[in-house]
Amino acid sequence: MKHIESVVDLVETKRHQYISLANNIWSFAEMRYAEFRSAELHAAQIEQSGFKVRRGVAGMPTAFVAEAGSGGPVIGFLGEYDALAGLSQESGALSCMPAAGAENGNGHGCGHHLLGTAAHLAAVVARDYFAANNIGATVRFYGCPAEEAAAGKTFMARDGLFDDLDVALSWHPSVANSVFMNATLANVQAYFRFHGKASHAALAPHLGRSALDAAELMNIGVNYLREHMPDQARVHFAYINSGGISTNVIPVLAEVLYTIRSPRSDDAMDLFKRVKDIAEGAALMTGTRLEIVFDKAVSNVLHNDTLDHVLDRNMRAIGGFDVSADETRFATAIQSTIAEEDLANSSRHFAAALRDPRPIVPEILPYSPDVVRPVTGSTDVGDVSWVVPTTQCLTACYAFGTGFHSWQMVSQGKLSLAHKGMLLAAKTLAATAIDLAGKPDTLLQAREELLRKRGRRPYACPIPPDVLPPPARA
Ligand SMILES: [Zn+2]
Repeated sequence: MKHIESVVDLVETKRHQYISLANNIWSFAEMRYAEFRSAELHAAQIEQSGFKVRRGVAGMPTAFVAEAGSGGPVIGFLGEYDALAGLSQESGALSCMPAAGAENGNGHGCGHHLLGTAAHLAAVVARDYFAANNIGATVRFYGCPAEEAAAGKTFMARDGLFDDLDVALSWHPSVANSVFMNATLANVQAYFRFHGKASHAALAPHLGRSALDAAELMNIGVNYLREHMPDQARVHFAYINSGGISTNVIPVLAEVLYTIRSPRSDDAMDLFKRVKDIAEGAALMTGTRLEIVFDKAVSNVLHNDTLDHVLDRNMRAIGGFDVSADETRFATAIQSTIAEEDLANSSRHFAAALRDPRPIVPEILPYSPDVVRPVTGSTDVGDVSWVVPTTQCLTACYAFGTGFHSWQMVSQGKLSLAHKGMLLAAKTLAATAIDLAGKPDTLLQAREELLRKRGRRPYACPIPPDVLPPPARA
């Protein structure tokens, strides 16, 4: 593991430049498909580092692929940079307050400003190492937009952008340092729009056909479906249009958005078909017309134990980090703003940390591939993991117990702990890439594991071919 020292040195010499990149992207806080400044800052900076950049890939103006090096294995680092609506928050504050002078109401409540930056930095460091040591390898940094409630990588996977990779590496900011061991859910999301016939609700109710009735019957039908779904499947809905505000007009239009999640993509697609059948039944019952607008879908993550072991070994060789008294004080203070049940829920994912709860958990947690993987949300990294062997780590960027998509997460996004976690991630990903580049047998084994796990279900993009990424809105 002689590469560890070089990787640590390379990351440390670049730390200021990349901390400033992450802080800028935190401030931009741009939403899915509209991350124009964030994507351009990444693209321009990696271009300056000597990478060739292809902008606007897979039909998304804010998606890009940067490449450097040649020959050898092709190693991809996946970066994200989208923020969340309604989470604007003053940095370092101990209560919920929008950031002063914020350009929009968005906030980096999932740490993607750190995610993209560490993946970018890891790609540059790996390339530097390969160049300095005359090692043939091709390094790519994927600028992946629209992860939140979207599927940027799924569109990129559909366009074959990951097809020639030997390995994909990524990470996610978290509250502890470990291999990413969570199970994720595949999901599919679509709008169900019912078209009825307006009429005076008292004078001519027999002439009206209620779109709202159809939406309500659909929701009731789906409630009866819930008993007959695979374990851990989830179906959520939100009213987009509940038919207007008049009781004396038969509603002519009603619309609900459905998200269907299941541990496996094929089950999610099967459930989606059953939800569609229910919607058609509701339209039939009410004499309305149904229109379905497909929104997005992502696959579940296929873990690759072969790669996870290599990542764990490298992360452990780098080691955790020291925590300052100030960081501990702030983490303790922010923990006091988090409800007990939220803390307990966070702990569920990190049983080892729970046994010895502290405000910050800076060491590397044990890697145990055989434990039952707690289910987390969905991610479009899933689609990459069906195409190419993929591994991911988590690092402690936030006080233990901080909930994802919370103001507390945004508040901590520019603090020193966030940067320590980000730099550990960059070191881990770069070291893992370098380690793997020298181990063609391990790469082969990882590929065989992927093929075995996919089994009779080769990757089928869950987004139909005619569905395009939504038009970007600045
Ligand atoms: Zn996220």
